[in-house]
Amino acid sequence: MVNEFGRKHRIAVLGGGPGGYEAALAGAQLGAEVTLVERRGVGGSAVLTDVVPSKTLIATAEVATQVRGAYDLGIRIASAQGARVAVEGQVTVDLGVVNERLLRLAAAQSADMTAELEHAGVTIIRGEGRLDGPERLVVGDTEIDADTIVIATGARPRELASARPDGERILTWTQLYGLAELPEHLIVVGSGVTGAEFASAYRALGAEVTLVSSRERVLPGEDVDAALVLEDVFARTGLRVLSKSRADRVERVGDGVRVTLADGRTVEGSHCLMAVGSIPNTQGIGLEEAGVLLADSGHIRVNRVAGTSVPSIYAAGDCSDFLPLASVASMQGRTAVFHAMGDVVSPTELRNVTSNIFTFPEIATVGWQQPQVEDGTVRGVIFKLPLEPNARAKMLGIEHGFVKLFATTTTRQVLGGVVVAPKASELILPISIAVEHRLTADELSRAFSVYPSLSGAITDAARAMHIVR
Ligand SMILES: Cc1cc2nc3c(=O)[nH]c(=O)nc-3n(C[C@H](O)[C@H](O)[C@H](O)COP(=O)(O)OP(=O)(O)OC[C@H]3O[C@@H](n4cnc5c(N)ncnc54)[C@H](O)[C@@H]3O)c2cc1C
Repeated sequence: MVNEFGRKHRIAVLGGGPGGYEAALAGAQLGAEVTLVERRGVGGSAVLTDVVPSKTLIATAEVATQVRGAYDLGIRIASAQGARVAVEGQVTVDLGVVNERLLRLAAAQSADMTAELEHAGVTIIRGEGRLDGPERLVVGDTEIDADTIVIATGARPRELASARPDGERILTWTQLYGLAELPEHLIVVGSGVTGAEFASAYRALGAEVTLVSSRERVLPGEDVDAALVLEDVFARTGLRVLSKSRADRVERVGDGVRVTLADGRTVEGSHCLMAVGSIPNTQGIGLEEAGVLLADSGHIRVNRVAGTSVPSIYAAGDCSDFLPLASVASMQGRTAVFHAMGDVVSPTELRNVTSNIFTFPEIATVGWQQPQVEDGTVRGVIFKLPLEPNARAKMLGIEHGFVKLFATTTTRQVLGGVVVAPKASELILPISIAVEHRLTADELSRAFSVYPSLSGAITDAARAMHIVR
């Protein structure tokens, strides 16, 4: 398809994670000539080190938890000789096999995505790229001139000088998958989403785990009730949380690690995972020289259609100052290209982003949350329904969790929600649809949910918010 100037629109994409991948596919779909530059592998950190490997590990940990809990449901496992070998609590995990599998899955996912791009006609150039002004990328000696450039270079783990990862005992999450054996005692520094997810998974796999949190509660910034449920589960499963404990220094001692806290206490373990945030890959790639404005944090400043301060340059994903989620990166990548090529585009509404924390139980959220209802940012009411009375929850042996809905005071239009449950990531969608399409609680409750089902708790909660007129 040619543009109004009689030739194909040329799009150059830097980075092949979800942001760059979706931008490239959208460009090809709209008939542009698309070139994508990637230095490591299509799928980016999301597929190779972050989302896919971590969620595969967590899926495995979930199975380990279920097998462990199977005893309570009356299940006994027999050995080849017929003896009942499984007794309560006995599950061992071969981490070498687990890690080999998850890396294989990640590589396969990357290969599938590469094939998809090639099939769509996208030219892939492997190498380290940079901007050369507002309309050109360079990779070695290759110059790629473009009408539109999408920067999607992602982010990398933040490293602290006082806790340098060595890839053996002090690790970032990208180095965890090299472990052949389950750590005897994993110390996780950082109780945000990444720290909480890995701590929960490794505990479920059978490692002793200590989570060092500088804050009073794990998951600062998330729903307080959800964080409390998680802390309760952590305590019951023997995962030790050191709250209000800032890690000052992490060092190797013999075959293990020592974490020194700001108040002088020390914690010793076999391994330490540093989960203290990410920094954007925006340095040394010609952004400032091309006139692209960066935030103080180094993130590229973007508007709701992923546009930067330079009209020909867009930015998608973790390198931008939007939410660091793969789903958001993909949405930004698509939006950028649709906007650049004059197609219909809906500006990304950050408030409507659905996100999930893959702990046990999972915590999924969407829309306005309790603090904004309580501080009056939005005028709304809150309703929380525990999962305990839900018939399906009982059958599945689920003891923890709830559905919480926020709706406007006057018309009960659904403003947001929280689901804390196994597979909350799958259960939250009806609430996301209600938020996106401004449904009322009554409208949400009129949809049939299956009986018995966990999603029935969502329609039950919505029903409870009905106003008698
Ligand atoms: C442990 C962990 C778990 C996560 N789990 C989830 C989850 O469950 N769900 C979710 O939505 N999000 C999750 N995230 C967040 C998610 O990984 C990121 O939001 C997502 O990867 C961002 O995609 P992106 O396209 O911006 O960048 P990336 O996926 O980081 O890809 C960027 C790519 O750009 C390449 N690149 C960088 N610079 C250059 C250059 N100069 N030249 C060539 N190539 C370059 C890199 O090699 C990389 O491949 C998780 C993050 C972490 C750390």
